[in-house]
Amino acid sequence: MAKRFVKISLAIKFRLLFGAAVLGIIAVALAVPWTFAARLAEQTAQRPGDELTRLRLNEWLAKHPTNIAAAEDTASSVVAMHTAGDARGRKGPLLIRLRPDMTTDRLDGPREQALRAFVGNVNQRVAMVRTEDDAGTTIYRCFRAVRVEQTCMHCHGATEPLERQYQPGQLVGIIDVAIPGEEAGGWMVKATWWAFIIGGVLSGLLAFFLFSLISHRLVLRPVRQLRNLADKVADGDLAVRSRVRTGDELQHLGDSFNEMLNAISSQHEKLRSANRALDLKLDELAQANVALFHANRVKTEFLANISHELRTPLNSIIGFADLLAESDDERTSRYCRNIGSAARNLLNMINDLLDLAKIEAGKAVISREQVAIADICKTLLALMQPQADKHRIVLHSKLDKNLPVISTDPGKLQQILYNLLSNAIKFTPAGGEVTLSAGQHATTRGGQRIKEVSISVADTGPGIPEAEQQRIFEKFYQAERSLTRSSGGTGLGLAISRELANLLGGRLSLRSSPGHGAVFTVTLPVDQD
Ligand code: ADP
Repeated sequence: MAKRFVKISLAIKFRLLFGAAVLGIIAVALAVPWTFAARLAEQTAQRPGDELTRLRLNEWLAKHPTNIAAAEDTASSVVAMHTAGDARGRKGPLLIRLRPDMTTDRLDGPREQALRAFVGNVNQRVAMVRTEDDAGTTIYRCFRAVRVEQTCMHCHGATEPLERQYQPGQLVGIIDVAIPGEEAGGWMVKATWWAFIIGGVLSGLLAFFLFSLISHRLVLRPVRQLRNLADKVADGDLAVRSRVRTGDELQHLGDSFNEMLNAISSQHEKLRSANRALDLKLDELAQANVALFHANRVKTEFLANISHELRTPLNSIIGFADLLAESDDERTSRYCRNIGSAARNLLNMINDLLDLAKIEAGKAVISREQVAIADICKTLLALMQPQADKHRIVLHSKLDKNLPVISTDPGKLQQILYNLLSNAIKFTPAGGEVTLSAGQHATTRGGQRIKEVSISVADTGPGIPEAEQQRIFEKFYQAERSLTRSSGGTGLGLAISRELANLLGGRLSLRSSPGHGAVFTVTLPVDQD
């Protein structure tokens, strides 16, 4: 039996799906530390940034106590001053002095961000912005808000012109310090990040391995065993049984499978013994058939022999009865005519039986010769004319002009037509008509176009009911009608005619409806040129 093609095995499906699930879970799990790491980096950078900005502001204030005011006049809205970078390359504090009427268009992105934060929240002193330098390295920009304090007012208070007077808490500048990412603890963040990735991948691989192992033990192995079992059963091995011992649903499935196999095996056994009994019966039947065939053959041979033996004395009886029928004594003459007629009927019956026995025994010999259909029809019409006259039946003929000459047994064809014509005359009431017609036509049989000749005998008699149209071709069958029953006969004529038509390679058919006469047609093949 052809096995169904498995597109993808359960094991591969398990691994693919679980692998994808593990990858998804790891990705989601790593997204959390990713966010956490960024925050950690910021917090790590915030402390040194805080320290540095405070330190640098104090340094700067100590060194340039008056420069702020001096420089203030040189720029329109923002004044920037750098100290030189220190030995480790850290950029020194940048003080951005803010005038009250300042705008932000001369500040870069991070500064603007810090300014907004400081303006928005008067309590915020430090802001941290993560950015990259031109080389793409991470740097943290730490900003410290410089706000006016009470101590500032000692110098800048009443002595300042009115438009430059400050309020306590007012934002007057921002300290900007840049710290390289590495220094701000970036290495720690990176290390943490890599630890998460490696840990995630390792735990993913471990989970995958463990899952494969467990799924193989718990599911795949028993399923594979059950599949092998089913394959063996499909190949006709009913002795196999499931040995799955997992103690779960799969074992239950295997046990059910075993029970089903037990039931099938016992049914199979029953079927086998029924088959054996059937074989025996068939054997007996075949033997009975052979015996029947022999008995039939013996019967047929017996009939053929006995019929032959009966004909000789019957012919003598007919001959002597005919002689004695010419006696002067009226009574003797009548008796002898009765004897002659009964003996003739008996002879006809014996002749029919002999014919049938010969055909059934396969001893009927066909002697073919070229026969002109038109001639044979005319001969029969002439032969039947006296009988038709006697029954006061009008005999017609409708013969096509181009009737063929065919190779057939003329004696047997005549016998068929004689039977059909004498039946038609016999069963048609006086004053009726019988028509013999013949014609040639072409037909398709077995995909081949062949020529045939049909000879029909139609009458205007009582016709034959549908139910009897097949039965009248059986041996000894006579239709149950007063008219036909009273017409005598043996019920063998049509059976013999059909057998003879078949022997000649043709067929005999009937078309009839009660009250509208009957049409018997014998069809024979025309030899192809
Ligand atoms: P038989 O004529 O000796 O009875 P057949 O075999 O020739 O035997 O015919 C069988 C039966 O078929 C007849 O008894 C008759 O009932 C019916 N039959 C045959 N030919 C005709 C016919 N032309 N019209 C009506 N019935 C017919």
